[in-house]
Amino acid sequence: MGKNYFQAIPIKPSYEKKLLRFTSSLGKAIGKGETIPFADNDLTYTLNLQHERIESKNIELDYEVYERTKNSSVNNTFFDVENWKDKHYASKVGFGVLGVKRRVRQNEKILYKDTLRYVFYGTVTDIVSGSHPDNEIHICPNCGADQTIADLQNGCPYCGTQYKMDDLFPKITSFYFFDQLQMTKKQVFIGWPICSVICAIGLAIFASLFKNDPIFANTIKEISRYGPIFFCILGAMYGFFLFLFMHLLFKIARAIVDLQRMGTAASRERFEARMKKITPEFSFEYFKNKAISLIKKAVYSKDESELLSYQGEKLPEEFKDIIDLNYAGILGLKDFREEDGFVTAEIKSYFDVLSVKDNKVSYTHPVYSATFKRRTDIPVDLNFSMTRIQCPTCGTSFNAMKNKCCPSCGNEYELITDDWVLVEIKKA
Ligand SMILES: [Zn+2]
Ligand SMILES: [Zn+2]
Repeated sequence: MGKNYFQAIPIKPSYEKKLLRFTSSLGKAIGKGETIPFADNDLTYTLNLQHERIESKNIELDYEVYERTKNSSVNNTFFDVENWKDKHYASKVGFGVLGVKRRVRQNEKILYKDTLRYVFYGTVTDIVSGSHPDNEIHICPNCGADQTIADLQNGCPYCGTQYKMDDLFPKITSFYFFDQLQMTKKQVFIGWPICSVICAIGLAIFASLFKNDPIFANTIKEISRYGPIFFCILGAMYGFFLFLFMHLLFKIARAIVDLQRMGTAASRERFEARMKKITPEFSFEYFKNKAISLIKKAVYSKDESELLSYQGEKLPEEFKDIIDLNYAGILGLKDFREEDGFVTAEIKSYFDVLSVKDNKVSYTHPVYSATFKRRTDIPVDLNFSMTRIQCPTCGTSFNAMKNKCCPSCGNEYELITDDWVLVEIKKA
């Protein structure tokens, strides 16, 4: 396990290739419902839910991922920022500077459009060499039928397509876009002139107060000789510095408020330490990805009570209007408790939310609070997938995304046996 956020280490070429195909196909998967290459089954399922939501609103979403910068010195789009592994699987987080262009249309009428200057984090998971997941269930990338990996390598029994291991692994198991909170053009075009005027007024007051002062009198006389244009340039220059300073001050203030609001670093550290006792490879980045993916699944689902990963009350109606949801920073751990062999963790975070209600589009930035629960008596499966469940009663393997009950003994399967479930999500 390791982190390297401060160095730009290009990700492996084979991972780079898959991430490029994945991100460039993302728009068509969300907007048109096309199959996404190299995504694992859970992720494909969530993207399908999102597409169905868009369709149900009778609108179209044009969604395009573009590369914001191409670093010429390193001819790479994605960088290796973090990794973790267990006995069978190894995961890497790839980071890229990507943006998203979105356009909501109804017929040819454009209801909304924007360009988001995002960064991208995608988790790529590979099998550890020597382990053979032959019996793992994988959806045939061509026809969508459930098959074992061994069957797909011999040729899918339904459509006949034969796959190499390289087509199936490594695969992308989760992703999120993230707004870096950079200075926007709007902020510069409004903030800078205001600061310039303030500086110009300041300079004028200063000059009138000190024009007879022996220290400043000469300088003021010199400056006034250059006339009003020079005075304006001076105002704009000082204004720019003032603007940068105010921007920084505002950012620091916001960070302090956010930390109070989202949870403290101390509670996060306690949580990590506790989870590492159960599973030494546990990392907060893994948990963040898990949390975002469970939240997306619940938000995009038609009926959340049908989901194995959601065990809470009925979601508020406004969640059913969301057509695009993105993590927007500072996923903090508010609190965690331990009781009767279960750990419950409450997170708080900003989200960027695009909603459609009665053909009106709104873009908001709410804070959501979400609570997750899992057992403490079994290790965390960092690469858990709903498509490879072992029935806790009889041991048969099956795909829990398609069957809630074990096909062999008929017992209803509960996700909490193996993985995290979302027990509450609400606007904070
Ligand atoms: Zn097939
Ligand atoms: Zn069974």
